[in-house]
Amino acid sequence: MGRSVLWLRNDLRLANNPALIAALEAGQVVPVFVLDPAMTLGAASRWWLHHSLSSLASEISARGANLVLRRGEARQIIPTLAKQIEADAVHAGKSHEPWLREADRDIATSLSTQRRAFYRHRSALMLDPEQIKTKAGDSYRVYGPFAAACFEAYMPRPLTDAPKRIRGIGQIDSENIDEWELLPTKFDWADGLRATWQPGERGAQQRLTQFLEFGLEPYNERRNLPAAAGTSMLSPHLHWGEISVDAVWLATKAANTKHHVGKNAFLKELLWREFAAHLLWHHETLATAPMKPIFASLLWRRAPTELRAWKRGLTGVPIIDAGMRQLWETGWMHNRVRMMAASFLVKNLLIRWQDGESWFWDTLVDADAASNAASWQWVAGCGVDATPYFRIFNPVLQGQKFDPGGDYVRRYIPELAGLPARYIHSPWIAPESTLRAARVTLGKTYPLPIVDLKASRERALTAFRKLKIAG
Ligand SMILES: Cc1cc2nc3c(=O)[nH]c(=O)nc-3n(C[C@H](O)[C@H](O)[C@H](O)COP(=O)(O)OP(=O)(O)OC[C@H]3O[C@@H](n4cnc5c(N)ncnc54)[C@H](O)[C@@H]3O)c2cc1C
Repeated sequence: MGRSVLWLRNDLRLANNPALIAALEAGQVVPVFVLDPAMTLGAASRWWLHHSLSSLASEISARGANLVLRRGEARQIIPTLAKQIEADAVHAGKSHEPWLREADRDIATSLSTQRRAFYRHRSALMLDPEQIKTKAGDSYRVYGPFAAACFEAYMPRPLTDAPKRIRGIGQIDSENIDEWELLPTKFDWADGLRATWQPGERGAQQRLTQFLEFGLEPYNERRNLPAAAGTSMLSPHLHWGEISVDAVWLATKAANTKHHVGKNAFLKELLWREFAAHLLWHHETLATAPMKPIFASLLWRRAPTELRAWKRGLTGVPIIDAGMRQLWETGWMHNRVRMMAASFLVKNLLIRWQDGESWFWDTLVDADAASNAASWQWVAGCGVDATPYFRIFNPVLQGQKFDPGGDYVRRYIPELAGLPARYIHSPWIAPESTLRAARVTLGKTYPLPIVDLKASRERALTAFRKLKIAG
């Protein structure tokens, strides 16, 4: 009987896991997760990982094996473990994250000197990023043709249940997850996260089932309304691979809906995720360097006080503050509001998109190297297929359009809850009597806007136009 190391990374699940299936077919399996210092996880991701691994460990032990936890450099740990258990092979899900690709190169060399195989299975994505090329043989830089090519080439694997039994190899040394201190240590800020999420494979499956039943049909009409629970909230589960994208795709396709418009819109969103991964695969510096290099010379402002106000949801612009507080409270922000909040930082405040990217990285439970960086570059206008530089969201109009009753703002900014819908997105134009009746004192109970929206828009246009001229 053969022996394998199953190196779990962005595929923390037992169902539809091709690496696990291959390892089980070969015989005994030692599943391992490595907390590598190169992972640089944000605080919300660390919280998620703690719970996801705890849940995975109990599912694995219920099936007769143990999840081995190790902290340190994967390039050392994986070959050493493979040697220790005399494995024939190491199986893992293929990753598009730059640090893992780098580690994989070294590990492949070490394992081949030990005469052990290293298999990386398609797992996190729908297609291998190398597989999808333009007619000229290049990587795609525009979403539309990329999505069309994916629709044509993608062949989801047939679904497989979690195995009933995993044949392990006695007791292998493992660290205790509590010692990793992934949970908050100084003060417990995770109440809202606990109330919102159930990390792990079961939580992922529940989200999907619920979304298919109630959210898919009206998805197209509701997905842009932050007050409605109109999207799947599958993003952190997909990021950690607690559910496979094949499973989400197939279940969506099979869902019994009257119309296809919701279904098609949702499948297209999954392809945005795929596109972001494709971009990261071909541009490893996506999170730090603008894809259009001319943007590196833009004269961004250094404005730490304004950056801090943005992070804390105290800019005085209600829809932006509601989004930033939703992020802080729940570790997630609605996509439409992410776009507004990012545009506000990069355009109205003229603060570097990388500063926003790193705050999101720290606070999002779905923080994803590809989707986060690609989306920030998209909003800033420096990515490929990005929004044009002159498109600057007006947060008041956006708020009125997508949160017309102001329910989203009221939920996250209780100090504005008494304002009527007419003024909720621009309290500074409300008559004194209305403010008084709502117990709002601008500058005291809620800030006045930290920038003039019109003047800051002009300032951004001037800065971005200069860049065009320079380019
Ligand atoms: C500035 C900014 C930063 C972002 N950072 C991240 C991030 O770190 N991680 C992340 O997963 N998404 C990120 N997104 C994309 C998007 O906001 C989230 O994927 C989405 O809000 C997740 O909610 P959901 O699962 O309910 O989405 P749904 O609407 O239910 O969509 C289903 C799935 O499709 C994928 N998806 C949807 N929209 C996008 C998109 N625009 N780009 C890439 N994938 C998408 C996600 O995996 C999502 O779970 C960012 C967007 C912006 C504007």
